Amino acid sequence: MAVALMACANNRPVAVAPAPSPSPAPASVLAEDPASELAQYGYDAVLWQHASAEAYRLQQQGYELARIRLAENLKVTDERPPAVIVDIDETVLDNSPYQVDLASKGAIYDQATWIKWTNAAQASAVPGAVAFLKEAQAKGCTIFYITNRDVRERASTLKNLDSLAFPFADTDHLLLMEGTSDKTERRARVANSHHVVLLVGDQLRDFDERFKDRSVRNGKATVDALADTLSRYFVLLPNPMYGTYRDAVQGKGTDAEKQGNVKNWFRNNAH
Ligand SMILES: [Mg+2]
Repeated sequence: MAVALMACANNRPVAVAPAPSPSPAPASVLAEDPASELAQYGYDAVLWQHASAEAYRLQQQGYELARIRLAENLKVTDERPPAVIVDIDETVLDNSPYQVDLASKGAIYDQATWIKWTNAAQASAVPGAVAFLKEAQAKGCTIFYITNRDVRERASTLKNLDSLAFPFADTDHLLLMEGTSDKTERRARVANSHHVVLLVGDQLRDFDERFKDRSVRNGKATVDALADTLSRYFVLLPNPMYGTYRDAVQGKGTDAEKQGNVKNWFRNNAH
């Protein structure tokens, strides 16, 4: 956006706001499109995740904590070789550019645009992720990527990870979605052969499927119940853009139904 700069008396530039756009989209048009309105509910989240130094720093901080926990947990001896499990989206790969594109069009997630994005294999690494996983590798850990990307995304995902120099970016260490978003069975498979010393994810379900249930205090009761194991074995990274917390509010219906559910949530929670 062009902003005219004018010199004033003390020679400090003063920003002059540009004239309003001649033909802004009428608010009613957006309001009549459930997808557009749902996108608007996510604007701040996408802006924060993509552009804020706070998100950038929290991601670095998460991987700093991961280093500390890894060193502590590797002191425990186990006959199985050690492994670290990481999620992919918003944990090691940053998809916020995809979310920015959607938001700018008033669109919301759909599989076609998502596959187009992952096919491009252009996601950048989440800050701190590559260095942490290389360090874990140097300390003797095997890395497993457990993701709910599906088999169509296998080649592009490996290409993207490999281009960013992530270790163990190969078929054997990439556990894609197999019919269910529940990662429990895939985690158990890794634990059969390896001592899992740490997990990293942007969703609490990346640690334990019990977090799918948000019925008691929006899932915070489960956080409290599992506090000790969460603290020791799981590092959670920020992601306000999507996830179980939003699904629990908006449901899985049509765009119009989701929009209605989100509106109701705000009405019911207003004080
Ligand atoms: Mg994720």
